[in-house]
Amino acid sequence: MSPHLQDAINYIVRQRPFSKDILHSYKTFLQLMEDIPVTVPEVWEKESLRRLKKDEGFPLFSRENLPVDFGGATRALSRIMEHLCQDKKTQETEALQACLKKINEDKDWAKSVFSAILNKDHPAINKKAKEVGLQTERLYFLAKLSLKPSLDAIRSACSSNLDKQAWDYGYCPICGSEPNMGYLDKKGKRHLHCELCGEEWTYPRLNCPFCKNEDQQALGYFHSEGEQGLRVYFCRVCKRYIKTVDRREFELETPMDLEYLATLHLDILAEKEGFE
Ligand SMILES: [Zn+2]
Ligand SMILES: [Zn+2]
Repeated sequence: MSPHLQDAINYIVRQRPFSKDILHSYKTFLQLMEDIPVTVPEVWEKESLRRLKKDEGFPLFSRENLPVDFGGATRALSRIMEHLCQDKKTQETEALQACLKKINEDKDWAKSVFSAILNKDHPAINKKAKEVGLQTERLYFLAKLSLKPSLDAIRSACSSNLDKQAWDYGYCPICGSEPNMGYLDKKGKRHLHCELCGEEWTYPRLNCPFCKNEDQQALGYFHSEGEQGLRVYFCRVCKRYIKTVDRREFELETPMDLEYLATLHLDILAEKEGFE
């Protein structure tokens, strides 16, 4: 684990003590996956094709065609489940044990959960969660997290080769997914963070990434009391919102995956305001 991650966790927890438990378990999960090797298949296409795709707004991959290492992700999920099963017994222990058993006995079980996540097939994830008696959101979170080492490897293989300056779409240039977080850099420029692969790219501030609406009357942001540096940008046309960290207000530049988990109170606020 990079010391930077621990520093970032300490920094966030100092401002938002309520995020301590979630960030610490997240760190534990990352540590559990740290030494799992993942393979990234050779993914490079012709330069001309890549340029064409970019010009026409096509990401490098579609979610369902991402060259994910399902074997590595399955090992990661199994390790996380083993860890959670050893924790003190809770209401969900039985379900976690059932899930671990499924992963170990049926080699395609975890893969079909991962595919359902990549295909955004929520009924399929729900069905898989029911099979083991686990909450759907819980299975979704843990399985998606298990994809992280492989997605990180894909991202680092692709990111430096992308001309992101030329990418002005509201979805990820690598996998085509929507952003789940954003930040304003020290100069006030807006960056979006992909909900799946974690890629980041710049995007105009006065434009909704979900519906491209530019009508300023319908765009805005709010923050919760005492948290000037954390904003929720919303759009009244499509009713969507995006949580945004204003890095001008903070000393340390914290990773967006941590900020996403440490700002769940803003999701509650946004939903109360009628955004989704
Ligand atoms: Zn992405
Ligand atoms: Zn919109």
